[in-house]
Amino acid sequence: MPRIYQLPPDVVTKIAAGEVIERPASVVKELLENSVDAGATRVDVELEAAGTELIRITDDGHGIDAADLPLALSAHATSKLRTADDLFRVSTMGFRGEALASIGGVAQVTLQSRTPHAPTGAEVKCDAGKMAAVKPWGGPVGTRIEVRHLFHSVPVRKKFLKSLPTELGHVCEIVTRLALANPGLHLTLTHNGKSVYDVPASATLTDRIGLFFGKEVRDALIEVDTGMGLPRLSGYVADPKCDRGNAKLQYLFVNGRWFRDRSLSHALQEAYRGLLMTNRYAVGFLFLNVPPDTVDVNVHPTKSEVRFRDNSVVYSLVRGAVKARLMRENLVPGLEPPLPAGSGAGDRGPEPQWMAPPPRPTFESIFPPRRVLEPMVEPPSPWVKPTVVVAPPEATIEVQEEPPSPEPAEPEAPFPLPALPAGTVLQVHDSYLVQETPEGMLVIDQHALHERILYEQLRRRVRDGKLEVQRLLIPEPIELPPEQHAAVLDAAEALTELGLEVSDFGGTTVLLSSYPTLLSRRPPHVILQAVIDSLVTKDRPPAKEVLFDHLLATMACKAAVKAGDRLSADEIAYLLHLRQLAEDSHHCPHGRPTSLLFSRQQLDKQFGRI
Ligand code: ADP
Ligand code: MG
Repeated sequence: MPRIYQLPPDVVTKIAAGEVIERPASVVKELLENSVDAGATRVDVELEAAGTELIRITDDGHGIDAADLPLALSAHATSKLRTADDLFRVSTMGFRGEALASIGGVAQVTLQSRTPHAPTGAEVKCDAGKMAAVKPWGGPVGTRIEVRHLFHSVPVRKKFLKSLPTELGHVCEIVTRLALANPGLHLTLTHNGKSVYDVPASATLTDRIGLFFGKEVRDALIEVDTGMGLPRLSGYVADPKCDRGNAKLQYLFVNGRWFRDRSLSHALQEAYRGLLMTNRYAVGFLFLNVPPDTVDVNVHPTKSEVRFRDNSVVYSLVRGAVKARLMRENLVPGLEPPLPAGSGAGDRGPEPQWMAPPPRPTFESIFPPRRVLEPMVEPPSPWVKPTVVVAPPEATIEVQEEPPSPEPAEPEAPFPLPALPAGTVLQVHDSYLVQETPEGMLVIDQHALHERILYEQLRRRVRDGKLEVQRLLIPEPIELPPEQHAAVLDAAEALTELGLEVSDFGGTTVLLSSYPTLLSRRPPHVILQAVIDSLVTKDRPPAKEVLFDHLLATMACKAAVKAGDRLSADEIAYLLHLRQLAEDSHHCPHGRPTSLLFSRQQLDKQFGRI
């Protein structure tokens, strides 16, 4: 019969620490929250080896009394609540009194602090749960805490840590959340002596968003605010044009605390219904303010989830407020049928067009030109327009020609094009092609089909080592969040094989110096961003072939014509021509159908003819 033992306190601490302290980022989170609770106006975070060797956090908050220093490092000791009832009116970030004790149990901690009225400060050290005596300390008002050799006393946990760039990425994410939630706070992050972030107190929320996520996101922001009464929703969402391949840029805060909530992410997505393609995600930085007794923040050890008393109220608030705001921006899509021409609504968008417009000479996009030497100022067609973005006006684009092959591995652009039988193919809703066939009627999803074709072309060329690559004479610097920066550099070799040559440009910027010519329809950085999104969405790196295939599909998807793109008759003819040559023209790389056949018999039956 196994005996039951009371666990010794150091084991209890380590078990508790396992819940709260998982990696350097968890330490940074707890310490930053303590600084915010202490009313700090400036917090400096310094790391060595992504925080695995050293995390030092210095704040100018109200400090800790010398007499309380050992208590601060003891389990279940807090200045933030007294009774269980207090749990339902928590206004501080912390309240469990666990963090410092947990950190002290799994690292070497030096805690130094001074309160405004004390003549001098004091310090206490704690190594793997063993606390030393309190000593005087001569520092300024505020608190300084150093955490060295995280998990040195729990080697198993240390083994669970990921690569340093990944761990640093997690810390950056924590700093980002805290900086977004606390405008007015001066926050700096330094890694191995190099500055990663320096967010001045004066930086507004939009400045902060720009700083962390770049100009593209900042410029697309649309303010949301339901006004002073509670519950209140405020913050920003982004124009749907600035969508993403994952939900990482959906930041939610409640009463100043970042949290994760699937249902509210869903509410946000719902607000964008019809404005985003499938598998695309809205960008939003949303702040909820609710009465403290209507939200339980004590449902998760790291407080990253909360429970609302009435979830449906909050859900409707998010969906309703964001949707109403998007409507005011005139962004809600034309769900209504197009108005007849001449009804005065012409300025709201293109007139309904049921037939493909007259031919324009633009096959380049499907089958890019061998040579694009001069950047075009006035592109002849929207299909090639993005090429212009590739380089500044004074630059030229150098094209590496494919080595001449006597027998082309794949069909080249047919000249003259197969004639498009008049009246038998229609482009409807700028999204579908409807074609009469001997069997009946074919409805083709133009995006899915083009995606399939590009995917096959890319795959074949990569496999044969014949991917035509366009080098940018002036490589394009692309600033990325640190986590993405690390992921891209980790995958640099694979990306080169896919025609996307990236290198480190210092800081968190990468330099993109080439991209596959086949994809010249979209600006290179858009392709790279899509690839990055799919790289960081994966939980763990998949096998190389799987990754490759996934990235090829992502690139093809991004570069393909979209639903909503008006095609010329030539473009339609060419797409249909390539359709016949595709290995599998029936499914897009994600497995969805590219076309649906309505047989003559089916039609006759439906109309009661037979
Ligand atoms: P909690 O934040 O849940 O109270 P912690 O273990 O994180 O628990 O901290 C314990 C106590 O130490 C806090 O309640 C607070 O009184 C004090 N403390 C910790 N960090 C700071 C700081 N940076 N400035 C002032 N007081 C602090
Ligand atoms: Mg705390």
